[in-house]
Amino acid sequence: MRVSKVLILDGYTDEPAGLGVPPYIDVYPRYIAGAVWAVDKTIRVDYITVDEARRDVHGFISRARGYDLLIVVAGVVVPGKYLGGEPIRLEELRLWPSLIEGPFKVLVGPAARFGISSGEGGRVAALPKEVRESFDVIVRGDPELYVYRLLSEGESGADPYEVREDYRLVDRFAVLGARIVEQHPNHGYNLIAEIETFRGCPRYITGGCSFCIEPAYGRPVMRSAESIVAEVEALYRHGVRAFRLGRQPDILVYGSPEIGDREWPRPDPDALRRLFHGIRSVAPGLETLHIDNVNPGTIVHHEREAREALKVIIEYHTPGDVAAMGVETADPKVVEANNLGVYPDEALHAIRVVNELGARRGWNGLPELLPGVNFVLGLRGETRETYHLNLEFIKRVYDEGLMLRRINVRQVLILPGTKMWVYGDHWLRAHRGIARWFRRRVMEYSRLFLERVVPRGTVLRGLYVEKYDERLGVTFARQTGSYPLVAELPCRLDPPAKIDVVVYAHGARSVRALPVPLRERGAPARLLAKALGVPEAQALSEASRRGLVAREGLECRVS
Ligand code: SF4
Repeated sequence: MRVSKVLILDGYTDEPAGLGVPPYIDVYPRYIAGAVWAVDKTIRVDYITVDEARRDVHGFISRARGYDLLIVVAGVVVPGKYLGGEPIRLEELRLWPSLIEGPFKVLVGPAARFGISSGEGGRVAALPKEVRESFDVIVRGDPELYVYRLLSEGESGADPYEVREDYRLVDRFAVLGARIVEQHPNHGYNLIAEIETFRGCPRYITGGCSFCIEPAYGRPVMRSAESIVAEVEALYRHGVRAFRLGRQPDILVYGSPEIGDREWPRPDPDALRRLFHGIRSVAPGLETLHIDNVNPGTIVHHEREAREALKVIIEYHTPGDVAAMGVETADPKVVEANNLGVYPDEALHAIRVVNELGARRGWNGLPELLPGVNFVLGLRGETRETYHLNLEFIKRVYDEGLMLRRINVRQVLILPGTKMWVYGDHWLRAHRGIARWFRRRVMEYSRLFLERVVPRGTVLRGLYVEKYDERLGVTFARQTGSYPLVAELPCRLDPPAKIDVVVYAHGARSVRALPVPLRERGAPARLLAKALGVPEAQALSEASRRGLVAREGLECRVS
């Protein structure tokens, strides 16, 4: 196929192991760009996000007609509300490609692989016929391999189902494609690159969890530390300052020689150290280095090595990090019926261990490393009792004085290729009412945990202003990181701006805060008093003593 111009439209992706909604850029666009340049470095590759395209749809459509190849990346498998962007809608996926005549059109990402999720759990629906028909190819395998073969061998040599068996090509593509980040709208500001360290779950040996697609990859395939470091170096050279090692089911077992042979491989802290040390050496001025998934079972089965591994992470990462743990349920019967592998007491122990090692507050105002827990609702065998046990579990964590950075509750998404696909959505449908009750109670606990994680008066450093909401009169700002905490400011600040804030109140998922240092005249004494826990009459002098107000500070007039 003769190609001189390629356009990547990023409709954003969100999967259990991988995030690509701004400020994140996931691996897909980077690997794809690298695959193109691996074939011919003179090919022009342009990148545009769906939010940029939406600003001028007509302009985007007429521009896209001028390319030889259009690649649309899409698929939000675990839908949520996003502050940084809005993923491509089904309607746009249906309409836009059908209006773009000229280029060869390819759909890739989770939408191509699994279909479309309703956002309320349940079975993933197949892609509607009109969407399928508006693309030339739907790639169900690895997009970068398809694009590489398409450009090097032509359509007949490109198998849309091909899945990589090792990282040889990807390691090359990842370095070559790193420069695509310069076209991302968040580049030079709060852009975070998602980094892949391995694929496949060690628990594939026993079939893995009933709802998870990861065991379908079979024996896990590890990326070498040298390749990951080379990719980070390339991204750093092209201006990325925030990284998350998020694409793997369990960072603790990265590099373990037992992976692939044992359901619960023993962590290899030295392998982790080589990786983290390498990253720090090639990206000395990085601002954020975070992780994502940690399997609590690894901490339980190999506590000594897991503790060492966690210490390595804390030594090299940046504070505010989150070890996202799939607790999934606190009902032992549901653990059993879905082969989840970790029982509630074990999960609680893992939470204790992470708290013990990670609760210390770091330079940016947040604890070094805290657990986040995930619950999945609608699993096989659950009953109303399950929901009460789940809540009891959260209460136990709270009553022990432990911290959780966040509690994530989602309805099971039933993907083809998982055991839940066979079991069905009976449990999900039967418990919609109690699920709503559970979510409400979780929101209450989330607020209580946040009060513990960032008490009033905490100063958080280095937040990026993301947007001002005219209707609410609120500015949203966040640090870069894994599950960054949103601060809502009761005044107008416009991006780009990087600020510090002081916390004065808590919601379930965000904190209310004032930017600091505030300009002396007009600083809201009422809110400062709340933040500092002093009477209003003393608020300004106390704030000034702590350096939170200044003559030339920020403006924040609150009506
Ligand atoms: S432990 Fe379970 S949820 Fe986690 S990756 Fe493995 S199979 Fe998936």
